[in-house]
Amino acid sequence: MSFKSLREAQKALSNSSITFEDLVQSYLTKIEQRKNLNAFVEIWPEEALAQAKALQQKWNEGKAGKLAGMVIGIKDNICFKDHGVSASSKILSNFKSLYSSTVVERLLAEDAIIIGRLNCDEFAMGSSNETSYYGPVLNPIDENRVPGGSSGGGASAVAADLCLAALGSDTGGSIRQPASLTGIVGFKPSYGVISRHGLVAYASSFDQIGPMTKCIEDAQLITEIISGPDEFDSTALQAKLNFGNEFNGKPKIAYLKEAVENEAVHPEIRNRVNAYIENLRAKGFQVDPVSFPYLDYMVPTYYVLTTAEASSNLARFDGINYGYRSADAVGIDEVYTKSRTEGFGKEVKRRILLGTFVLSAGYFDAYYGTAQRVRQLLRQKTREIFSEYQLLLSPTCTDGAFRFGEKSDDPISMYMQDIFTVHAPLVGCPSISIPLDNLQENDMPYGIQFTAAELADSELLHFVQGLDNQEL
Ligand code: GLN
Repeated sequence: MSFKSLREAQKALSNSSITFEDLVQSYLTKIEQRKNLNAFVEIWPEEALAQAKALQQKWNEGKAGKLAGMVIGIKDNICFKDHGVSASSKILSNFKSLYSSTVVERLLAEDAIIIGRLNCDEFAMGSSNETSYYGPVLNPIDENRVPGGSSGGGASAVAADLCLAALGSDTGGSIRQPASLTGIVGFKPSYGVISRHGLVAYASSFDQIGPMTKCIEDAQLITEIISGPDEFDSTALQAKLNFGNEFNGKPKIAYLKEAVENEAVHPEIRNRVNAYIENLRAKGFQVDPVSFPYLDYMVPTYYVLTTAEASSNLARFDGINYGYRSADAVGIDEVYTKSRTEGFGKEVKRRILLGTFVLSAGYFDAYYGTAQRVRQLLRQKTREIFSEYQLLLSPTCTDGAFRFGEKSDDPISMYMQDIFTVHAPLVGCPSISIPLDNLQENDMPYGIQFTAAELADSELLHFVQGLDNQEL
């Protein structure tokens, strides 16, 4: 049993060829069979099966919610009351959520079945899922390769059909980059479209929750359901977007010359993206190169700002209130120092140190202040592009999935994974990665990324949905 969309699953449920319990059981069996992928930190089989049973009843009575049949995994940084949540860090390894995130409540209200929590990079910091306390996640297409990160568990699980969809979080690419590396769809909504209440914070002015799915239609549906205002998140938008909105006529598409022609992009991907552009033109779209000489500033700006925010957000993990406390610490200073030293991994420590440094009195303006100004400039320049064009196209990543260990000793080359994905969260825009092709060299998939103006989430989703079946 394998479904490519919720619609397909619901069809099978409607014509009684399967029950909800069969559906959940089939995913549980697959999870067991591919346990070696390490995609899930924990699964909740009894609960999922009990929910399936109850849901069958509702379904038969015609009272089931819109997500009935949606068996979904949630990233291990999204709170679900009375369930473990650890951001895949030792420091929270024994922690249970005291409340549910808004997204979980909205999923459950529409009868989604949450099957477990998904492995990720520690505190969502990484691009390969190699920094998790629970060990790396494998790419199901080639197990010697990474699935991308930080939502690597979600990408691996959806690509291997261990669940129909996943919720990930994207701060600088963590939904889209792993989606690209595993051949699935990953969508990061505009900032504020989805409440962050109950999401373990990494960098609060960037973080967004979003769907990872096998098809655009499911990404659209999940986004619509989990979006909307929320009294628990003051940065959530005051009004729900209208998910019926579409572009008027054919949208004009821009691409950043500096991205598409970038030497760092694998030549096969470069050629394929160029061919894609030609195919769009052949279908009557206006697709123009635009110059954007700021590409080199994006990754540094992203890392200055996100590490600054992380150093502040992660200060709460002090061994006192909750989470891991060092067993042999004596006195308050030692409790802080030892709990944090033992509880955080190397990459998280690197970022806390970097963030503390860029915020320190003598350097604040030189680093943090400058980065804020660059962010502002990027916003303004991006808005200028979107005043003339409706969409921005680029490869999602420079390459396909890399091998374990290939970049883990070289933080800079790991950070460069994010070169095309940090743009959207820096400026608050919605951005989606959809599967484009596979590399001939090693058969690994890669995606193409479309970004739209702030709050044009619905227009973007409808547009890519329309492209889906065309030959591009
Ligand atoms: N790879 C990026 C980082 O390490 C993005 C992470 C994310 O989006 N959570 O910060």
